[in-house]
Order: sequence, then structure tokens, then C-alpha cells
Amino acid sequence: MSLSLDSPIEAIDPRVAGRRTGMRNKGRPAAEVLADPLGITSVDALLHHYPRRYIDRTSVAKTRDLKVGQEATVIANVKRVSKRQTRQRRTMVTVTLFDGTGYLDLTFFNQPWAATLYKEGQELAVSGQVGIYRGKLQLGNYEVEILSGSSDMVHTARITPVHPATEGITTRTIRELIFRALQKIPAIEEPLPADIVAAESLSSFDEAIRAIHFPETDEGLQRARERLKFDELFALELGVAFRKHRVEADAEGVAHTPSDGLVERYLASLPFEPTDAQHRAMDAIGEAMTRQRPMNVLLQGDVGSGKTAVALHAAIVAVASGHQAAIMAPTEVLAGQHGRSMETLLERLGAVRFLDVDDRPDDGQGSLLDGPADAGDAAKPTLTYAVLTASVTGKDRLRVLDGLTSGDVDLVVGTHALVQEGVAFKDLSLAVIDEQHRFGVHQRMALKGKGGEPDVLIMTATPIPRTLALTYYGDLDVVVLDELPKGRQPIETRVVATAAERKAAYELIRAEVAAGRQAFVVCAAIDEANKAEVKAAETEAKRLASDVFPDLDVTLLHGKMRPADKDRIMEEFRRGEHDVLIATTVIEVGVDVPNATVMLVENAERFGLAQMHQLRGRIGRGQHRSYCFLSDHSKPDNEVARARLAAMVRTTDGFELADEDLRLRGEGTLFDVRQSGLPDLKLARLAEDIDLVKRARARAFAVIDEDPELQAYPGLLRELQTRFAGSIDWLFHS
Ligand code: ADP
Ligand code: MG
Repeated sequence: MSLSLDSPIEAIDPRVAGRRTGMRNKGRPAAEVLADPLGITSVDALLHHYPRRYIDRTSVAKTRDLKVGQEATVIANVKRVSKRQTRQRRTMVTVTLFDGTGYLDLTFFNQPWAATLYKEGQELAVSGQVGIYRGKLQLGNYEVEILSGSSDMVHTARITPVHPATEGITTRTIRELIFRALQKIPAIEEPLPADIVAAESLSSFDEAIRAIHFPETDEGLQRARERLKFDELFALELGVAFRKHRVEADAEGVAHTPSDGLVERYLASLPFEPTDAQHRAMDAIGEAMTRQRPMNVLLQGDVGSGKTAVALHAAIVAVASGHQAAIMAPTEVLAGQHGRSMETLLERLGAVRFLDVDDRPDDGQGSLLDGPADAGDAAKPTLTYAVLTASVTGKDRLRVLDGLTSGDVDLVVGTHALVQEGVAFKDLSLAVIDEQHRFGVHQRMALKGKGGEPDVLIMTATPIPRTLALTYYGDLDVVVLDELPKGRQPIETRVVATAAERKAAYELIRAEVAAGRQAFVVCAAIDEANKAEVKAAETEAKRLASDVFPDLDVTLLHGKMRPADKDRIMEEFRRGEHDVLIATTVIEVGVDVPNATVMLVENAERFGLAQMHQLRGRIGRGQHRSYCFLSDHSKPDNEVARARLAAMVRTTDGFELADEDLRLRGEGTLFDVRQSGLPDLKLARLAEDIDLVKRARARAFAVIDEDPELQAYPGLLRELQTRFAGSIDWLFHS
């Protein structure tokens, strides 16, 4: 009876599947261990359990030619088997082999069964490392096979795969099961369309699966890897294409038609001349919003590139077309700040009503603000604006909620509070999501879900190499702000490792404050839930305040504070009431205080590049020259940390840093892959296999173009459903 991909492990070979490993073979049967914890219950899954590495045992050597230290395979006959007790009362079995050219010993400690398993005259294949003991040749770390008649060598005399194993099962058992499975299974059906396999000159799936486990040559192995990587990437890109198509095809969005010159007035009222990049972005987004097809844009722009003005432009397009817009930020601090910087811009626009919260003493609460005299119709506000965060409660909250439901509020800025139950919009046509990497796909969808088919604008300052963005954000159109506003001063970055350097950093902070500037000190409470880290930041704040800068105004901001307190401190700092702000990483995203020109990052070695880049983006935002000090407490052997710091000193270009990060740490750490809603890749690496990514992507998009529902490809559809099993809602519901 032949085996199929769906067969259970036991069907491969009951003897091997039932093999028990462990102390005196008291362990569980191999098939059970494969099922749990390895999660392998079928031949199919087993064949996708790829080797971790390979040992080259291809050359069969003669004993005479063996060299100490070499990895070698010898085929020889058992000459003698002896068993004795060592002085430590251990059993030692020695099997002496002879291959016509010389003798070779295998030694088994505490494996008395070896004395009965190996018998004089048997032919064995042995692979291992050549050593010498008391003048006799030995093999260490060996694997032995008894060659019986038919003699297919599974473990020796080949490029031997080493599969990931776990307690209760050996790599040898896994190898044997896979070997037997491949022997018994007929040629495996080709899952890819034949024309793609041919056009891409790939090996067949059957060939590839066989060769990845038991390669005959190095080249064959490379071809197998290429083919299987292609499959993973193709499935991934197919999912991306599938979803992109659904989002675009199924949905009837809002075709925005802004009236009454509001958009032009907004552009004219900006306190600065937009950069060319900002102009291009606003044009592209404005254009996409006029189309019926829902917009899905990722706006990627380095810190300080001016994304806020672009987002507000989009919001005004929505409002001027008679709809509502929402802007969601990941933290209270950031939402509060967005709120304020938008207020500043909107005030200049005039005729804006601020539906504000009562505990903000310094704003025109809920009043009608008259615009500048020349701003036109001041009696009737053109735009009503509100903030909704966790700190907006009680009556204020109800007022905002009512305004959203009735359509009275045109533009709302907030946090996750926006996607909570009970928040309903009358007519949301634009959802802006800032710092997307902080949100899961689900929250992104949740905000979108508050409208019919709103246009979506996602903004990120996390620089992602383009090749990655292509896939991670593959269902989005990417718009890039690749230019900083003019007149920005470069930031000078230095590593602080010695006491003298620290003193110099403190002196510079003092000098900048004396010149009217402000400073950030960032303490490494990376995990705001970690009490010890927050405590350390507080202690450091006290020390700086009392010992280092007793004459300056030093204040502290950390994530455990009440939102209202955080807002208050940020606002005070922005107004220049404090000289030095000691903060944990709550200031990482978005905080905008152009007068701040110095930053000292404590324990910078603990931060990733992306995070350090975000932090540093808090300075250099005004017209003054800025300085960033990265204090390095890393251990001497922490070369990766030092490479990161060196990269920070070398460049301020976010994309360059992203590439460096990728090189140093791999793609998974740049942003949370678990949240990206993409399936795992076993062999392929988005960052490294760029060429394959492009090829797979082109093919996948072509297939979807031609057959969006994959009707002609039930196999591919099934494959998608399996690969995206953990994120099925991401794929199938938009
Ligand atoms: P980010 O892209 O990091 O969100 P912001 O939108 O916060 O950047 O803008 C950073 C700062 O630059 C803000 O103070 C903003 O007012 C200012 N800014 C934005 N665009 C321009 C411009 N074209 N010229 C001068 N300053 C600008
Ligand atoms: Mg921003």
C-alpha cells in the first residue's frame, strides 16, 4: 500500500514510529512526540519539517587514509566486540572494525545493548569524527548503520540532514521516518501552476522535497531551497494580492468632491511652505480620495518630515466633501500632541469650532472661535473638531460621542478610545492611523470598520526597507515623504562611554539651556510595565535634579503617570517651563518640541536602532543645531550594541538605519511580525531573498489578476487557507 500526504505518521513504518527514546527507552513513542510538541501528525507536515543543517558524509574513506580531526565515513566489518566495566563502574563496549586497510574502534559507554546488537562479521557504515586514543584510531560523535543486504544508507555516506528534534525523539528517528516516507510515497503532485514552474526554471516540488531532506549534491540542495522558498513567498504574495484585490474590487468607497475652497484655504494658511515631497504626497492622496475605489495608502516619512500637515490635508478633503474624518494615534501623549498641533494649524484656517474638554483651561472651550477677519464666513463654522482619548470622560465624552453620531463633529483626533464600542460615526469617510507599527492589523481594521468603506491613510515613521514594505504593506499603496523641511540643522551624535564624556554632555546641556534651549534625558525604562525600570528613571531624575542640575528646572515624565499628568507636563515643557525633561520612552513617537536641542539617552545599548532613531527624532526639529548623546554601558563583548551606536553616529537617515538594523538583527525585530498578520516563513527571508520575493510577487499578482477568486486553482486556494490559518480574518474579511 502506498503512502499519501494525508497518511498518519504510523503508516510510514510502525516500528520506527513506535520507537521510544529516553532513559532505558521508557519515553513516549516517536509518533506521539512528533504530534506534541512538534505538531506533526501527517506525512505532509513531516515533509515540511526541514533539516536545520547537514553533515557532509559523502566520501567513504579507507581507514588507512583517515586523518585526525576529519569527518569521515568508513564501511567496514565487525572484527571483534568486547565488553568490560570501567573503574567508574560504567559498562564500556568496544566494537573493533576492519576494512582491509586498517582497524578502527567504536566505543559505547553505558550502552550494554551494543554488545548484543553488533556481531562479528556484520558490515557497518560509520560516520563520525576521527580521533586517536591510546594509539588507536577511533570515531567520535559517530552514527552507525548496519548494512543488511539491500543496504540503503540513511544516516551515513551521504549529505546527512539534521532535523530539529526535541526531548523524546532523536534527529535519527526523524531522519529515518522521512527517509521511509519518501521511499513509499509516489511522486508528489505539483502544487504550483506548471507554467510558473517552467517559466521560473524551478525544480519540481517532488524533486525539491526529496532533495531538501536527502540532497545528493550541494547544488541540488540549493535548487531545492530555491524552489521551496519560492513556494513560501508565492503563497505569501498570493495572500497579499488576493486581499488587495478584494479590498479594491468589492468595495464602493466614497468619491470625495471637496467644495467651497476649504482645501485651498488650508494650504494658504499653513505657517510654512510645504516641501516638494509634501506637495506630492498631498496631491497623490487627494487624488486617491476623489476615486470611488477605497483608498489604502501608507504614508512613509522619516521623523520630522511633516506627516501631520499631510494628514490634516486629507482630513480637510474629507470634511470639505461633507464627511467625517478620524485620526488615531497610538498613545495619549501623541494623540494629545496631534490634537494640539492640528489645533494650531486649524486656528490659522479660521472658522473652526473646537469641541473641547472642560479641564483644558487654556483653550476656547466649546466656543465658536472666530477666524481671522479675512478668513471668510466666521458665523458658521466650517469645521468642528474634537479630541477623544481615555482621559476624555463623563460629560465631555458624551458630548464628543453625540457629535460623532450626529455628524456634528467633522474631525476627531484620538487614541484607541476611537475604536471602542459605543463610538459610532454618522459618516466616516477617512480613517488616518498614525504610527501603524504600534497598532495591530485588528485595530487598523476596527477603525476602518467604523465607517462604510472609508479611505484609509496609514502613517509610519518606522523606516522599513522598501523590499519589506512591499510585502508587509503589500495591500497598500506607498507614498513616501523623502525630504525634510528646509533649514533643518543636522544632529550631531556622540557616544558617551567615559566619565569625561558624560561631564561634557552635562556641560553641553547646561550651555544649551543657558542659550534658551531645552533638553531631553531618556532613561531606559523600555518596558513601561516594569516597575523597576520606571523606578530607576525616577531615581535618575532625582539625582539629575539635585546633584547635576540643581540650578535648572528638571522634571519627569513616565508611562505610569496618569494621562492628564503626562499631558500637563508635556504641555509645560512645550511652553518652555522646564529646562530638562527626563522621560522614559513614552516620548519615543511624535513628540514635537522644536526648542529642544539636546538629548541624552541613558543605556542606549539597550535600545534597538529603530527606537533610537525615533527618540533622536525628537530633537533637530527647530532651526537650532542639535546634539544627541548616547550613553553606552554595554559589556565589552556586546559588539552588536556597539555596531548600532556606531551606525547612529554615522547617519541620521532612517532608511540607512533600517538596512543596518536588518543586517544586525534580522527582519523580525524591526516591527512586530506577529502583528503583521502574515504567515511564518520557514526557509525564505524577506530581507535576504529579495530577488525571489520580486519574482514570486510578480507571479502571484499575475495569477490574481487573471483569476481573482482562484477558481481555476483550488489547490492554491487551499494552500492560502492553510498558510494564513492564524490570520484568516486578515485575509478574508476586510
Ligand atoms: P512627523 O512627520 O514626524 O510627524 P511633523 O508633522 O510633526 O513631523 O512635523 C515636524 C515639524 O516640522 C513640525 O513642527 C511642523 O510644524 C514642521 N513642519 C512640517 N512641514 C514643514 C515645512 N514644510 N516647512 C517647515 N516646517 C515644517
Ligand atoms: Mg508624526
